[in-house]
Order: sequence, then C-alpha cells, then structure tokens
Amino acid sequence: MKFGGTSVADLDRIRNVAARVKRETDAGHEVAVVVSAMAGVTNQLVGWCQSLSPLHDAREYDAVVATGEQVTAGLTAIALQEIGVDARSWQGWQVPFATDGAHGKARIAAIEGAELIRRMQMGQVPVVTGFQGIGPDNRVTTLGRGGSDTSAVALAAALRADRCDIFTDVDGIYTTDPRIVAKARKLDKIAYEEMLELASVGAKVLQTRSVEFAMKARVRVQVLSSFEDLPGSLLVDEDEIVEKEMVSGIAYSRDEAKLTVRRVPDRPGIAAAIFGPLAAAGVNVDMIVQNISADGMTDMTFTLGRTDLPRARRVLDDNRGTIGFSELVADADVAKISVVGVGMRSHAGVANTMFRTLAEKGINIQVISTSEIKVSVLIGAEYTELAVRALHTAYGLDAA
Ligand code: ASP
Ligand code: MG
Repeated sequence: MKFGGTSVADLDRIRNVAARVKRETDAGHEVAVVVSAMAGVTNQLVGWCQSLSPLHDAREYDAVVATGEQVTAGLTAIALQEIGVDARSWQGWQVPFATDGAHGKARIAAIEGAELIRRMQMGQVPVVTGFQGIGPDNRVTTLGRGGSDTSAVALAAALRADRCDIFTDVDGIYTTDPRIVAKARKLDKIAYEEMLELASVGAKVLQTRSVEFAMKARVRVQVLSSFEDLPGSLLVDEDEIVEKEMVSGIAYSRDEAKLTVRRVPDRPGIAAAIFGPLAAAGVNVDMIVQNISADGMTDMTFTLGRTDLPRARRVLDDNRGTIGFSELVADADVAKISVVGVGMRSHAGVANTMFRTLAEKGINIQVISTSEIKVSVLIGAEYTELAVRALHTAYGLDAA
C-alpha cells in the first residue's frame, strides 16, 4: 500500500492511512506500506537548496530532500502502533534500496526484501520511505520527483506481492482529464503499455518509471483514492483486457514547443548535424518532420520541451556553420494531443478518425507522429480543450 503526499498531508490523514492499513491486516493480509512526504514538503526542501545555491551539490540535495519521507514513515508507524498494529519505519538505506550513483535521479538496482518478508510473516507492518535509496558511494540518493511510485512498485516486486495499491487523490485512471471532459470515464483496467504512453504524454497520475518497472516485473498495480472506499483502476497485461477499445485514452501536453530550422541543405548527414549537438546538450527531441526539398534545400521541424527552447536555439546558433540554415522559427503556443490504445494494433482507421474529427472543428494539424498504439498531433494551444472533447466523443469514450 503506497500513500502519496495528499494522503499523508496532515495528522488526521495519517490516522486515516493507519486505519486503512489496519483493515487489511485485520482481514489477514500481510502489508508493507510505502509513503511519500507530506504534501508540499518536498517542494519546500527543494526550494531551500536552490535558494542557498542554484548549482548545489547533488549529494547534499539528496540528504535534504529525502527527509520528507523519513518524517512520514516515522509518523505513520506511530499512528499504526497507536491503534494496536505492530509497525516500524524503514529508511531507504536500512532496507536497503540499492541504487546507482545518479544523485537526484537515481535508479533502483536491487532491493533486499528478506528481512521485511520475515517480519511481515510475524505480523509486523514495515513502513518504508518512498523516493530514496543508497548509492554505491554509501550516500543517500533520491529517485527523481514523483519517485515514490517507483519505490512502491519495486518493493512490491521484491516482496513478490499479489498487488501494489497506489493510494492517491484521484480514484483511478480516466479516459482523459476529467477537468477538461466532464464525461471522462474511469477505466477498470488499462494495459501497462497504454499507461506508459499516457504517462509519458502528460497524464500525471504515476511516475513514468514506475509504469516501466511494473510492466517489466509484471506487478499488478491498482490506482485508487485514499479518501473513498471504491475499487480503482488496475494496470494489467494486455491479454487480460478482453474488450479492446480502439482508443482507451486521450492525453494532452501543453509543455511543448515547435522549432523549425529553415532552408538547410538536403544532404546525407544533415539530420545528424542538427540533432547530434542537441542530444549532446541534453535536449530531448520528440516529433520530427523533414519537408520535401526544393532546389536542394529543405526545412526541418521538430518538437521539444518548452523549457528547453532557449537552450536548443543557442545550440543550433552555435552550430550554424556546420548545419547551414537560413533562420530558426520557434512556436511555443502549441499542444500535443495523443490518442492511445492497444486496440489500434487490430483496428484500421484510428488515425483517420482523429484527422477527420479535428478537421470538422477547423483545427489545423502542424505535426503528426505515430507508434503501434499511439497517434499524436501537434496543434495550436488554444484548441486543446476543444480537440480533446471532440476526440473523446469521436472514439465513443463519453460516459452515458
Ligand atoms: N516526495 C517526492 C516528490 O514530491 C516523491 C513522491 O512524492 O513521489 O517528488
Ligand atoms: Mg506522485
């Protein structure tokens, strides 16, 4: 059972968490708990590091930001003991969660679960800090923002748990953002791969890495509300989904920008000349189109994270000599809309439905990209809501 920041935001909510855990242990289940920091705490800790030094030591950053989870784990153990449940807190280094040495964005390498299993069999509930581990340098590491989801899934795999319940402030995974589409529906089941695509294109319910981990280790993950007593959405293998909809979910992201490199020579190596330096500078490029060439010159358009735009422009300007373009045209007023579904593998016409629907609303498509189970388009940011609503209806996803 993993509880996110809003689920442990104050002492009353921590008591509520303890009561939920007790219900499971009373029902005869062995439970391990993973907790996040209380809502807002990690932001404050990150802010303190940045205020002291914008280029702070990443190892000390980890020493600071890992404390949020330490507080919640201890408090949750106390709350459990208070209602008669045997419990103790565990910090990442105590379990241990061995990670690589990438401070601030470490990856879990191995979890030693034997002692936890032994104690769970004796009726003790381990309350484990999410988000943190210990690196090869013997220092505390953290897993990147939102990382306690990954801690929970990884621990569930290490303990060979029947299920990993992620309690959060929403009651499941929806066909799209319910704040935009009132008729969005909660999905009972969603395939790992669909969730992975949705998580990476802006549905911010789970950390993307936790979904990758669940898919690889085949952990059954349930996303559910800690404030209500209802089943949530289950992440499962594709084969477990019998009725495969053409499209399962629609996501959008407003964090995109579009950059066009005008009039570059259409010759072998031109893409490498543009995208090599961008990759070296850590700029993550997403959709790419190269236009048809006229008189040996072409335009190259691509999308990237909006915050990377200034850096990308500088990198390309610095390499203007080797690339040889006439100008850079940037547009940060764009949004990416993606429709996702494993049913696409067997249904034809999914992309066409998307294009027709957008055309009927007079929305111009600027860039298109597809994968086996996803179609994404880039459109003007002002059409985001309209596009998502129209597509939700077009694919038959609206709740009755
Ligand atoms: N407390 C950390 C964060 O805010 C980890 C998490 O909540 O998943 O990013
Ligand atoms: Mg989270």
